[in-house]
Amino acid sequence: MVRPGLRSRSMKRLKRRSPSGETRVIYRRRKKHVAHCMICGRPLGGVPRDRKDLRKGPKTAKRPERYFGGVICPDCLRAALKIAARAGL
Ligand SMILES: [Zn+2]
Repeated sequence: MVRPGLRSRSMKRLKRRSPSGETRVIYRRRKKHVAHCMICGRPLGGVPRDRKDLRKGPKTAKRPERYFGGVICPDCLRAALKIAARAGL
């Protein structure tokens, strides 16, 4: 049994072959979640990467204060607003 801290599923389990040839399970921290634009897929700014920062603190600290803030990027929003304005929506 590995040490208790490594038994948590918050650690990623990877199988790696050791120099002696046997397969061992190694433990790594999971990568932090990054918010992406729903349209173009670009990483969004102003959104915390850490899940625990999304749970605590005021809503204004969790995403930009703008239409679709934290959902689509400013470039895609700009294009969408232009299309909407020209279509008379
Ligand atoms: Zn975008």
